[in-house]
Amino acid sequence: MKSSSPAKRSLSSSSSDAFDLIVMGGGSTGLPAAITAAAAGARVLLLEHSPKLGGSLHVANGQMSAAGTRLQKEKGIEDSPEDHFADVMRLSRGTADAALVRLAIWNAAGTVDWLTDLGFEPDPVAPTKGIGHEPYGKARYLWGMDKGHSIRRVLETELQRHVDAGRVDIRLEHEVQALSIGTTGAVTGVTARSADGVTHAFTAPSVLLASGGYNANPQMYREICGRDLYTTLPYPYARGAGHRLALSAGGHLRGVENFFINFGYVLETASLPSPLAGRAVTYPDRRAPWEIYVNALGQRFVREDLPSIDARENALLGQPGERYWIVFDQGVLDNAPPLMAGWTREQMAAAFDGRPNFYKGDTLVALAATIGIDPVRLKASVDGYNYGVTTGADFLGRRHLPRPLGTGPFYAIRQQGAPVSSAAGVAVNGDLQVIRRDGAPISGLYAAGEILGSGQLMGRATCGGMMVTPALTFGRLLGRRLAERARQPA
Ligand SMILES: Cc1cc2nc3c(=O)[nH]c(=O)nc-3n(C[C@H](O)[C@H](O)[C@H](O)COP(=O)(O)OP(=O)(O)OC[C@H]3O[C@@H](n4cnc5c(N)ncnc54)[C@H](O)[C@@H]3O)c2cc1C
Repeated sequence: MKSSSPAKRSLSSSSSDAFDLIVMGGGSTGLPAAITAAAAGARVLLLEHSPKLGGSLHVANGQMSAAGTRLQKEKGIEDSPEDHFADVMRLSRGTADAALVRLAIWNAAGTVDWLTDLGFEPDPVAPTKGIGHEPYGKARYLWGMDKGHSIRRVLETELQRHVDAGRVDIRLEHEVQALSIGTTGAVTGVTARSADGVTHAFTAPSVLLASGGYNANPQMYREICGRDLYTTLPYPYARGAGHRLALSAGGHLRGVENFFINFGYVLETASLPSPLAGRAVTYPDRRAPWEIYVNALGQRFVREDLPSIDARENALLGQPGERYWIVFDQGVLDNAPPLMAGWTREQMAAAFDGRPNFYKGDTLVALAATIGIDPVRLKASVDGYNYGVTTGADFLGRRHLPRPLGTGPFYAIRQQGAPVSSAAGVAVNGDLQVIRRDGAPISGLYAAGEILGSGQLMGRATCGGMMVTPALTFGRLLGRRLAERARQPA
């Protein structure tokens, strides 16, 4: 991605537009940053592009992971940051950024305990070792009863106290568009455009880029990841604005080599990016597969009942277009437990009457033609699977072999692998200062949260809770630290 120079503007800022800290974005990072900075006595400006606070907490599951929490102790679970760190590095096969992961993990319990003190209530079944992602070795995975909202609400309530006390100034519908950069190269403030089209200048010794990812920006996604954006899952304001600002100041991105995907979504539309039509249950521990999975070449590429979600995700990552088709026959449709989570048998049957990404054919050859894959290969894949069912020896080692696929009509549902979080992120040092390629920090410019990228925070894997927890934690730490910075002589 190309960097761009910050727009030059002849704007003056009055003393009332001067703050100790400017936070760009009021989501998982920005909310705790504003709270802890204000609690430490700073005068904070929180600029938020959208009409409401909360960012990705409006769409996220809000699952966190932390070792050594009070909750764990109350439940008699012995855990340590060392074990959590070892788990993340094991799951990511050493690809996560060790320094950032350490900083997040050694402060994660403090974050969860702090949230709990503010009124956050975990689901009583938590903590567990994991849900939907490769499990940790210890039960340290927790979430609230109302997904990300459970976190958002306590943070917004706490922030309001500081707003009422006059320590935090929130400006909704203010899109930060450029950084102000002094003659020494230090960042001294931002310019933001309000909903009425007016551009405002604000100054502060520290600017925190807490603007989230870029996965709602198809063009930037393509530029960085070299792929089409498939889903509309991410928060719609995750458009990479902070990434562009960091680049404009001399920063750079890293971690895109750790691009990673979830095991698949059924898309609603044929055009991209698409909302989700629903989710097929592909977790073998929740529903053992009766179907086979074939890639765009018509070939099976993974043992469908492989217990490791991480291994299945890695297998999909290597497939053309990171997509596959779940293929089955009438016998499976009639006899297997429901494949689509929450769908009735009637809904499922109706979907094959023309809904995008649902395919039907009287024969395998006809099915292959509607999908657009090689009929010879598809038939060979089905024949190979059926042979394994008959002999009890599947060539991919699959163990759940309930029945052969031989009774037409035949069906397929297209599954698209896709990430929820942005892979590439802004490069920072251990103090979360944005750095240049030579490692030198850009004075006054900080970044935290998803803007750092899943490639740095989780590596080439999905490590449960390792996006929300670092976002909250880094925000909490930076708010306090940047309040202190404002008190130091320039
Ligand atoms: C469907 C889904 C489920 C998820 N579930 C989990 C989970 O269970 N556990 C987990 O660890 N992670 C999860 N994640 C990821 C996680 O939610 C995010 O990585 C994290 O919340 C990002 O926090 P953030 O503060 O960096 O960004 P956000 O919370 O997105 O906040 C960024 C804010 O910046 C604002 N903004 C953007 N541009 C500008 C601008 N130019 N000017 C001013 N403001 C701007 C945005 O409007 C937004 O409010 C999930 C993500 C999705 C999409």
